[in-house]
Amino acid sequence: MPETSTIDSCDVLIIGGGPAGSTAAALLAQQGRNVVLLEKAHHPRFHIGESLLPLNMPLLDRLGVRAEVEKIGMLKYGADFISPYHNKTSTFDFADALDKSYPYSYQVRRSEFDHVLIKNAALRGAHILEGHRVTAVDFSDETNVVVNAQTDRGEIRQWCARFLVDASGRDTFLADKFGIKEKISEHNSAALYGHFEGAKRHSGNAAGNISLYWFDHGWFWFIPLHDGTTSIGAVCWPYYMKSRKTSPTQFFLDTIALCPALAERLRDARLITDATATGNYSYKSQHMTGKNYLLLGDAFAFIDPVFSTGVYLAMNSAFAGAETIATCLDQPAEASHALRKFDKFIRGGLQMFTWFIYRMTAPSLRDMFITPGNPFRVKEGVLSLLAGDVFRKEIPVGSKLLFFKLIYYAMNLRNPRRSFAAWRKRGKMILDPKVEGVAT
Ligand code: FAD
Repeated sequence: MPETSTIDSCDVLIIGGGPAGSTAAALLAQQGRNVVLLEKAHHPRFHIGESLLPLNMPLLDRLGVRAEVEKIGMLKYGADFISPYHNKTSTFDFADALDKSYPYSYQVRRSEFDHVLIKNAALRGAHILEGHRVTAVDFSDETNVVVNAQTDRGEIRQWCARFLVDASGRDTFLADKFGIKEKISEHNSAALYGHFEGAKRHSGNAAGNISLYWFDHGWFWFIPLHDGTTSIGAVCWPYYMKSRKTSPTQFFLDTIALCPALAERLRDARLITDATATGNYSYKSQHMTGKNYLLLGDAFAFIDPVFSTGVYLAMNSAFAGAETIATCLDQPAEASHALRKFDKFIRGGLQMFTWFIYRMTAPSLRDMFITPGNPFRVKEGVLSLLAGDVFRKEIPVGSKLLFFKLIYYAMNLRNPRRSFAAWRKRGKMILDPKVEGVAT
């Protein structure tokens, strides 16, 4: 039987040492709080999600880790969208966004990036314990949360915390415990990914651009990394994933062959990892706060990687979360207001992205991305969205995106048959795995 040691206490206990957990740990420790972060794995560990956004940069500055990330990052100045339906590529350079002061970001190996962040949290005074998997939490006490964790060696340890942060990522520890996790039925897709050596790169500043290739069953990402390798992933509708009859790796290679423009870029490249599949990945939780807990990053919601928003949203939620927790601990009378404000802030940012994400494969939206005009500065607005600039009130992104949406709806009205057919097809592809006669 595993042994239970004595109960330790802390101000804040954080479950998970990904970008959300490590950022929150650094900020809360900097506030002078006694912070314990429990991570089940040992860094550096693999994680998918390698493309950062320009608005990550000020967050890295505020954490004091920009110089370290620069050493492990590939500069990313923009995003290319490649459409076989138009036989055309369009490039969005972040320098053209509404606010021109964030012209680039980085592509990173997450093993390295997450390691930088967790080391920074330790440096700022957080107690980091790796190889500690949180197994149970108990909220029955009025003032403290009791947390149980099991170490790699099988020992059971307990903590008593004034506040709990769930940053457990896609493990969604608290959402599962509370039974509040919901699949997002409007956006049901899955991913298949691997790493290549020898993929063709663009020249100059464009070498680090992320490329997105549309194809009939979804879209691909192409993310060049600083060590010369390239991360390739396919995000596909469920009916396509369920048609797989071969190994994931063979299926991945066969899927790439369905996208000639990408296949050409990988002609002399070699897959150096097995392909990994991630299914049913869009979800959100019914709520993200309680009297003495918060859900951050993927522990609350994950929509889709198409705009590379995951790490940015996770870190941004940690910044807002650390402020909220300070209010809860220091000014209890203000706590419920602070928690409501946090909830509204996080949902507001997510909503800005979801409208686009749900329509990313719609023909009218593809047209607008491939031949982007800039009436009413809508292209700059879209670029600000792609840069992650959706939380700052002083940048008028919302009004530009409203014009974009109006143009989109007008284009749908001009092509009603095409739009209706695409809308029906999408509905079927999401809901019915047997669509188009593909076996499940
Ligand atoms: P995570 O990074 O998942 O960290 C959670 C941590 O908690 C992990 O280290 C885990 O080991 C630990 N943990 C879990 N359970 C426990 C437990 N019980 N006890 C202790 N520790 C625990 N995002 C981008 O920004 N750019 C991209 O290009 C991108 N591409 C993606 C492609 C795919 C296919 C997918 C699925 C996601 C992608 N994302 C991308 C999203 C990104 O990976 C996540 O949004 C991001 O990692 C969220 O950070 P987090 O800190 O919330 O969670």
